[in-house]
This record gives sequence, structure tokens and C-alpha cells, in this order.
Amino acid sequence: MTSLAPDVLVCGGGMAGVAAAVAAAREGAEVLLVERWGFLGGSATAAAVGQFVGWETAAGRQVVQGIAEEIVRRLGERGGAQGHRHFMMSTGHRMDHVPYDPEILKLVLDEIVCEAGAAPLFQAMVLAVTRKGRTITAVEVLTKAGPVRVQPRAVIDASGDLDVLHRAGAAFLPLGDDEALQPGTMMFRFGPIDVDVFEAIPAEERGALARRGYESGALARAALHASIIPGTRDGWFNVSRVAVDATDPFALSRGEIEGRRQAVAAAGYLRDAVPGCGGGRLVAIAAQLGIRESRRIAGRYVLTGEDVRAGRRFADVIAVGAYPLDIHPPAGGGLSFSTLGADHSYDIPFRSLVPEGMDNALVAGRGISATHEAHASVRVMPTCMAIGQAAGSAAAAMVRANASAGELDVAALRTRLAGAGAYLAG
Ligand SMILES: Cc1cc2nc3c(=O)[nH]c(=O)nc-3n(C[C@H](O)[C@H](O)[C@H](O)COP(=O)(O)OP(=O)(O)OC[C@H]3O[C@@H](n4cnc5c(N)ncnc54)[C@H](O)[C@@H]3O)c2cc1C
Repeated sequence: MTSLAPDVLVCGGGMAGVAAAVAAAREGAEVLLVERWGFLGGSATAAAVGQFVGWETAAGRQVVQGIAEEIVRRLGERGGAQGHRHFMMSTGHRMDHVPYDPEILKLVLDEIVCEAGAAPLFQAMVLAVTRKGRTITAVEVLTKAGPVRVQPRAVIDASGDLDVLHRAGAAFLPLGDDEALQPGTMMFRFGPIDVDVFEAIPAEERGALARRGYESGALARAALHASIIPGTRDGWFNVSRVAVDATDPFALSRGEIEGRRQAVAAAGYLRDAVPGCGGGRLVAIAAQLGIRESRRIAGRYVLTGEDVRAGRRFADVIAVGAYPLDIHPPAGGGLSFSTLGADHSYDIPFRSLVPEGMDNALVAGRGISATHEAHASVRVMPTCMAIGQAAGSAAAAMVRANASAGELDVAALRTRLAGAGAYLAG
């Protein structure tokens, strides 16, 4: 069997894994980035989410910068995004966002990862993990050439579903009695749209159209949300809803089929009933069902909804979030969306990236140690990228110092992150 021994193994090339790989490689670590698809981006590309949200407080203070902002700049240079925009939500919340073209994002992520010197291994799936006590000693990945054995000094699980840590026997946080996993969504591309007409639909009429679509069964979610792809007349639509536990492969398979069924039904409703959409058609269905929530690690600190709401500060802050608590229920057409206040932000502590009982593993992205409620804010892509940058920098430092996550000098980590452009002053 082929054997590799990089300093840092990053499993999962979503937005968190990319930021982690880039940060670790820029600090001189030898990095292997394992990804099951043939391209990077995860939900951002394979699930075609289409917009990065949650950069700023409602008052306009930008709390995510660093590698995430560099990706926005690179997208702009390639015509894949047009910088930061704002829109008013029906709740009156002023939301910032960066709509992007998922195809151009794939190229930008290839470039930033390869320029940093990290080695991507595509079409490779985490298969098995060997753990000795508190240490992951090997991760086997399945490739076209058969299994490859990777023996890294530090491992970052950025697989979203935390497949590495699951196979390592780590502990995960349960849902509360009145909580349910957020549903998945099958994004689809529809166009051409008369964008001026579509965007000018008055809020009340838009709400009524969405409700009518939901009540008729054409929309699984009472929403007409689209991210218009920069430079085109097409939009990626986020109007489907599939209740699924993504860690159950058979349920996930049924969910993919149901997602495609919903996409086709929704596209028919857009064409027949929604102003500006009459000349459009279903252009593409995302390559995979988008997964909002699955496993959350039991880490050294569990970030709570109360921490988020109170804007709690931590001495070991490694990233700052500002996105509202945005919970999609698995059934019904609605949404629970709690805004946080005008210039409100909260800290994410390093301890929330560190799995309980493990020394050389970190989590990056949506699976960090956070309650169901706190996850509903942390899960957006800018925040996931900020967490990823911190995880990558931390892993490189652990390797340099031959230190466990618990022994890491977090003050020095914070200094390095600030030096690399990350925002840490909540
Ligand atoms: C439908 C939907 C709409 C959303 N809307 C927005 C929005 O408007 N704006 C926003 O900012 N955020 C939004 N989010 C949230 C956001 O997209 C995700 O939470 C975020 O992208 C998660 O990033 P991640 O890198 O942690 O995980 P993921 O994007 O899930 O990436 C995980 C990566 O790991 C790979 N992987 C998984 N398992 C394995 C394995 N076993 N072996 C190898 N590779 C593996 C996957 O292929 C993937 O590339 C939305 C999410 C969904 C699903």
C-alpha cells in the first residue's frame, strides 16, 4: 500500500478545509488535502450554495477577513464575484453577502491551494482511522489506485460530517429534546431571468407567491431565494427542503433523489408563476444535496447560543462571528431567524476546535464544538473559513513545536493569525 507522512493532513476540501490547508502550508508545513470530489469548495461548489453570507455585523463592521477575504479578491479578479453587497431581509435585517460563480470558485481554490504549496489528493475518500490513545496515527484513504496510508503528525477534520473523528471513536454532541437536524437543500440553477423584474417584486407579493408555491406543493420551502450568478442572468435557487441525516448513506441516497424531484417541481413553478422567470428553464441541478448540519464534535469548550447572543469574549478567541441564528426546520415552510443586534459579534475560542480526549486532531468548519443553536450561526462560509485558517495555523504550530493541541501557545497563534490578516478583535 502507498504510504505518505505529511506534517498536516486536512480531510475535506470545503471552504474550511481549503483555508486550513492554505494557512498550514503558508507556515511551512507539508500539507496533504484529501477531498472526495475532483474539485474543492464542498458545499460552496458541489452543493452550489452561491453566496457567502455573514461577514459583517448589521452595523457594517467586517469581522471575517484573512484568507476568506483573499478568496473574494481573487474571485473578483477572475470575474467570479463583484465584492461585498447588501440586501434588506423581510425581517428588516441588513444582510451582507458575496454572490459568486461556483465554477470560477473551483479555479480560484485550485490556485490558492497550489500556490500555498499544499498537495490536493482528489477523488479520495476517508476509509479508516488508526488511533493510539489520544493520538491519530494513521488515516487510510480510498483512491482509484486502492487504499493510501497517511501517517500525519497533525490531522484536521474538515469533512463537514467529521468522518475522520467518527472513525477515530471521538464523542459528538447530541441534539436537545426539542431539537432536530437542519434539513438539506438541493440547489438548482435556473435562467435566463429578467433580473430587474425578479428583484423588484415587492416584499408582500414575493411572500404571497412563495406561500402559494408552498401550499400548492411545488415549493418545499415558502421562499423564492436566489443568488444571481455574477455576470449572468441565471440564479442558484435555494427553495427546496429535505429532512435527512447525512451520516446515514441510505437516507442520504433517498435525500439526493428527493432533492432533484423538488428542484424540478420548483423550477416549473418559477417558470409558470413568478415574474421575471417566464423565459427561464432548469439549467443545472447541484452535484450533491447541500447539508447544513450533521455531526458536531464534543470539544474542550462547547459554544452555546447564549454565548452567541451575549457576544461573549474568550481569551483564546481565534475567529469572530456575527451571523444571526438561522435555523431551518426539517418540516414546514418557515424559518427561525434571530438577529443579534446592530454591531453585535461573538468570539469563537480555540478550545471549540479541539476534540475532547485527543492530542493531534482539530476540527475546522461547521462541525466545531457548538450547540445546535450556536451552530446555526457558526455554519456560514465566511465563519467556516476563519475557523479553517485558525485550525491550519494551529496545526502547523503543533508540528513545529512538537506540541499537542492542549499544549499549544494560543497567544502566539493569535499573533500569527492577526499578522496573516485575520480579524480577532470582537
Ligand atoms: C443549502 C445550503 C444553503 C446555505 N446557504 C448559505 C449561504 O447563503 N451563505 C453561507 O455563507 N453559507 C450557507 N450555507 C452554509 C455553508 O454552505 C456550509 O455550512 C459551509 O460551506 C460548510 O463548510 P465546511 O468546509 O465546514 O464543510 P463542507 O462544505 O461540507 O465541506 C466538507 C468537504 O469534505 C469532503 N468530504 C466529506 N466527507 C469526506 C470523506 N469521507 N472523505 C473525503 N472528503 C470528504 C466534502 O466533499 C466537502 O468538500 C448553506 C448551506 C446549505 C447546505
